[in-house]
Amino acid sequence: MVNQSEADLFHVDVMDGHFVPNISFGFSIIQQIKSVAKKPLDVHLMISNPDHYLEDFKNAGADWLSVHYETCPHLHRSVQRIKKLGMKAGVVINPHNNVGLLKGILPDVDFVLLMSVNPGFGGQHFIEGTYERIRTLHSMKQDLNPDLLIEVDGGVDTSNAEALVRAGADILVAGSAVFHSDNPAETISRIKHLG
Ligand code: ZN
Repeated sequence: MVNQSEADLFHVDVMDGHFVPNISFGFSIIQQIKSVAKKPLDVHLMISNPDHYLEDFKNAGADWLSVHYETCPHLHRSVQRIKKLGMKAGVVINPHNNVGLLKGILPDVDFVLLMSVNPGFGGQHFIEGTYERIRTLHSMKQDLNPDLLIEVDGGVDTSNAEALVRAGADILVAGSAVFHSDNPAETISRIKHLG
């Protein structure tokens, strides 16, 4: 019997080989994860045209669904559809884009996912400018959506978790730091209690 970790969510990266160079997996794998997961699935769509598939991801088992700012020309409509389908709605922004771009959509989303690496591959180094981006977003949310959760994805580990939370992050996504650890459950616990 495997001990349950202290993780709150399972973050699932979907890559299509088009919006990002890599290909990960699609609906059938998400369904299988959902069938054994005891925690909500936080599905991060790194795909072109996510609007075509929102309902399919809900049906596959997504509880939280985030779309990239860069992929949704009608972002407000996309966010409303995600919420109407009964999922928490998030918007993701790449490292090169200014978080000020999110001002208009901030009141409507449940969370913002800030990429702290360029999306598409695991194991990349954390981009230091992320701290300033979190601080900016944290001050924007005070006026526009105090309940907004700020999630950070990419290069998160035990060395930066505390500073990320201090900057204003609410949710940390840890991939390599956990999966390359000798004791994943303990690493998750350390990251949580550092933050
Ligand atoms: Zn992700």
